[in-house]
Amino acid sequence: IWKNCLEFIKERIPQQSFSTWFEPINPLKTEGNVLTIQVPSQFFYEWLEEHYVHVLKEAIAKEMGDGSRLEYSVVVENEKSTKKSPTSLKINNLADRNGSNGKGLNTAFIDDLKSENNLNPTYTFDSFIEGDCNRLGRSAGYAVAKKPGVTSFNPLMIYGGVGLGKTHLVQSIGNFIRKEDTSKKIIYVASEKFTNQFIDSLKNNNVQSFISYYRGVDILILDDVQFLRDKEKTQEIFFHIFNHLHQSGKQIVMTSDCAPKDLKGLQERLVSRFKWGLTADLQQPAFETRMAIIQRKIQEDGIHIPEEVIEYIAYTVDTNIRELEGVVVSLIAHASLMQVDIDLELAKRVLKNIVKEIDSEVGIDYIQKTVSEYFHVGQDDLKAKTRKKEIVIARQVAMYFSKDYTNHSLKSIGYHFGGRDHSTVIHALQSVNDMMDTDSKFRYSVDELKKKLKMRTA
Ligand code: ADP
Ligand code: MG
Repeated sequence: IWKNCLEFIKERIPQQSFSTWFEPINPLKTEGNVLTIQVPSQFFYEWLEEHYVHVLKEAIAKEMGDGSRLEYSVVVENEKSTKKSPTSLKINNLADRNGSNGKGLNTAFIDDLKSENNLNPTYTFDSFIEGDCNRLGRSAGYAVAKKPGVTSFNPLMIYGGVGLGKTHLVQSIGNFIRKEDTSKKIIYVASEKFTNQFIDSLKNNNVQSFISYYRGVDILILDDVQFLRDKEKTQEIFFHIFNHLHQSGKQIVMTSDCAPKDLKGLQERLVSRFKWGLTADLQQPAFETRMAIIQRKIQEDGIHIPEEVIEYIAYTVDTNIRELEGVVVSLIAHASLMQVDIDLELAKRVLKNIVKEIDSEVGIDYIQKTVSEYFHVGQDDLKAKTRKKEIVIARQVAMYFSKDYTNHSLKSIGYHFGGRDHSTVIHALQSVNDMMDTDSKFRYSVDELKKKLKMRTA
């Protein structure tokens, strides 16, 4: 009977799905109008019910008549000795039949899963500098690390732009737990890798191993879930794994490059679960935090860099922490290659190329040059103390464009104009706006300058 059912089903669903979900099924018995089939796991059963219940019903009705029923018998998952469990035997047989590489079960994939810890030991809470930008995320992460699965922060969702420390933070959680309790099974995995593993398991007919593996972890850290966008099947499998882990009180930690509500292309039911626990964002670090991060970094490397150089870098590179570290590393590399000490001169030279990129269009230096030429004042005057009217105006206009055309913060702009503070910059922006409203000649100048600066970006 079951054989006939299979043939019926086979014609109605894709070959891939058929071999994944139907070949592993064992027909147990028929009693009266009840057919009992054995499936390898609870998950397997849920999946069948969710996706194939109609075709199953049809098949059975056709073979056994209306009013017949299907019952499932689930093989108890045996986590320790997978070798002996019927589940993996079944998979073995399948793999052999498919004539895969002679090893029977495609073990490469499972070995890959097993050997994985993926935790980088240098990512710890100790090396994670705290600032206003990351305080909430850090303390939530720390609470989770101390009591995984127990706090209400489950799942813990950390989001924020690139290079702001998401991976560092969630790996710190993993490393912390690993140190406290070596018996806990902790998995850190990037969503891209998770997706590829799932696809491999489909290809190799061992979705079951994939699922059991992830269902068996105590702490699952899934990095960059935005990668699951539009990957329907992977989202579905993750949804099931998520539910299982959450129900069994296991900790789930995730990161994303945007807030859950902006995760377009992810199933609503998944996103709504992300919000069950705690969501915390990482923001761009302030100047002081950037200073602390650089100091920590060079201290780790046992290198001396003069304070003014550190300040200069912290002021100039205000995009993200990865960029900041990149600049420090490349500065150190330059100094050691050229066998010179690190000083402000060298820092400026090294940053010149990088900062241009960061500014993406025009840099402060270029703005100052263009504006001072236009107003016939010296470029250095913009940074000097002088309050002569035409210089003040040129300075304010240059600040105005620096704000508009670069990524520099107000603080950083002030710094580039002779170390003025950010309230001076705010004041400058206001006066430029006011003058544009009231003085048409001035407005014309600003427009002309705008054209000049735009030419550079064209
Ligand atoms: P993301 O995953 O958000 O893109 P990462 O976690 O990879 O960012 O961080 C980029 C780099 O910046 C890493 O080298 C990391 O160690 C460092 N970093 C990020 N945040 C901090 C912090 N608060 N303190 C120290 N280093 C940090
Ligand atoms: Mg990351």
